[in-house]
This record gives sequence, structure tokens and C-alpha cells, in this order.
Amino acid sequence: MIVVKTVKEMQQLSKKFKSSDNSIGYVATMGFLHEGHLSLVNEARKRDDIVIMSIFVNPTQFGPNEDFETYPRDFERDCQLAEANGVDVLFYPSVTEMYPSELTSEIHVVKRTNVLCGKSRPGHFDGVATVLFKFFHIISPDRVYFGMKDAQQVAVIEGFLTDYFFPISLVTCPTVREHDGLAKSSRNVNLTTKERKEAPIIYEKLQQVKMLVENGVRDCEELKKTIVNKLSSAITGKIDYVELLTYPDLTKTNTIKGKMILAVAVQYSKVRLIDNIILTIKEDNECIEQ
Ligand code: AMP
Repeated sequence: MIVVKTVKEMQQLSKKFKSSDNSIGYVATMGFLHEGHLSLVNEARKRDDIVIMSIFVNPTQFGPNEDFETYPRDFERDCQLAEANGVDVLFYPSVTEMYPSELTSEIHVVKRTNVLCGKSRPGHFDGVATVLFKFFHIISPDRVYFGMKDAQQVAVIEGFLTDYFFPISLVTCPTVREHDGLAKSSRNVNLTTKERKEAPIIYEKLQQVKMLVENGVRDCEELKKTIVNKLSSAITGKIDYVELLTYPDLTKTNTIKGKMILAVAVQYSKVRLIDNIILTIKEDNECIEQ
């Protein structure tokens, strides 16, 4: 595995791979790797000749009172995991390497961001889109791999890849979970023991609401109320949002139809957890989870 720290060297390497007709699969991460990240690498290994992973905790996607400073980091461990799982190039730039001077233009995402995390974290998706524009230009991947754990991020990326004719295919991968159902996340280490114990309830309640949909309930408000009641009586964390929206456009509807996202965010003492399930109501009214 090659570790690259500068933009220039990364650009040169990508150019070399492309000139020898290798396809490039790219996995963007903020590090502190877990099986969720590695599932993306695994998927990229199946389809692409070269797998490039970046590790970069991007300051522009964190708000002033968010957890940029306390975001977990362990580069040595990440290096070992990346190499053992078949990453060919690990791109690990510093903040000044990625943002050498003040930006002269900024990416502002105008759709799919006035709800969910975009609403709770103003500017977050502008920061995500800005850094991904940079990475996509530096690496020129053929395919990029993103997890449905961050389903709103996927919706935003799908939008800008289409808007700006990036010659890049987006591959989405399912959420990898702990044995008790909690979605794997680098941030989980910052939960207290008590919070970690109760956190699987979030997914449990998402599944219970899915059962209601399977049993024919279609009213969005009723379903939302049910999950808010179930969650608030079962957890000590503060519910940031519970939403049931169309996917990937993330608009409100009264009745469930087509592809929908049921998404939850819960604020714990040091960590904000997000989780979601994607439900599709088929023509024959059957409900399936993606
Ligand atoms: P992060 O390091 O949290 O920015 O995540 C980097 C990539 O890994 C994103 O595409 C995430 O959606 C994906 N990811 C994070 N957690 C999981 C998970 N539990 N299952 C699948 N993908 C994940």
C-alpha cells in the first residue's frame, strides 16, 4: 500500500493508473476505520483495479460547536486495516494541503439539504460537497463508494454528480451494524457505557415502524408520531429529528408511496447518532427494505 500525503503526488499517481487503463475505485472516509468503511473497500475491490481511500477529517463540514476536535483519530491503526483489506493507495493529506488558501468560490448545495442533518447542521453539506469536489478532481475515480448509513449525503452526492456531469459512477453500500443492531460509526467510541447500551434501541424502533408499514399503515404523521413516542419513552438521548421523506429527493408527503427514507438523529452527551432505513412500496403495495 502506498501512503500519499500531497495533492500533487496523488494527482500524478492517478494519472499513471489511468494511462495504464486501470479503473479507480475511491472510498472517502474520515478515518478511525470500522467494518462499515471496510465494506466499501470490499465492494471497490470487486469492481475496480485500483482502490484509493482518503482519510481526512474535513473541518469545513463541522459547525463551530460540533465535534471536530474530539472526532476519533488513529492513523497507525487505520493504515494497518486499510492495507490488510486491500487498499492500494491511502491518501492522507493535512488540512493545509487540502485548503492551502482561502477559497475563492464555494459549493453551495441548494436541494435535499433543508431537512434532516442539513437542517440541524447548517453548512454541513456545503462542506461535504466542497471537499468531495476537491477529492474527485484530484483522484479522478471511475467509481465512488458511499454508505447508506449517510443516506442524505448519498442523495446530495448523486445530485451534484448529475448536475455537473462528473464521469463517475456512484455505488451505494448497505449500513453495516453491530451485533445488537447499532449502526457502526467511528463516533460510537464517544458514547458513555450507558448510552452505548441503549443506542441499539434506535434501530429497533426503526424496525418496529417498518413492521407497521408492512402491515399496511401509510400515514406519515401517524408513523412519525409512533416512532417519536416509542423512542422518547425508551432512550435518554435527545431526539434531534425523526422524518419520513421521499428518497432521494427528501420531500414531505402525507402518505407513504414509492421509495421513502425513515431517518432518525439522536443527540447524546458527546455524540450525535444518525440512522435510517429505506423502504420501497411496490405497485402491489408490498413494502421492502432496501
Ligand atoms: P465517515 O468516515 O463517517 O465519513 O464515513 C466514510 C464512508 O463510510 C461514508 O460513505 C459512510 O457512509 C460510510 N459508512 C460509515 N459508517 C458506515 C456503516 N456503518 N455502514 C456502511 N457504510 C458506512
